Amino acid sequence: MLRRHDIYATCPWCGRGKTMADTRADIRISCHCSNCGKYYKVDFNTMRVDKINPRVRKKLRIGK
Ligand SMILES: [Zn+2]
Repeated sequence: MLRRHDIYATCPWCGRGKTMADTRADIRISCHCSNCGKYYKVDFNTMRVDKINPRVRKKLRIGK
């Protein structure tokens, strides 16, 4: 059974909080998990979920 909110990302920290989307799109959003209170980023184009350290406000970079 397909539901409208069939696309969702699960919180990478606690694995419980979910972020829903109507459709896949080339968007990336930052989410605040209501379950564990941590932050994560969801790319609804690739359905990739990345953890975000809320204490670092600048863009994450590999290396420095
Ligand atoms: Zn969570």
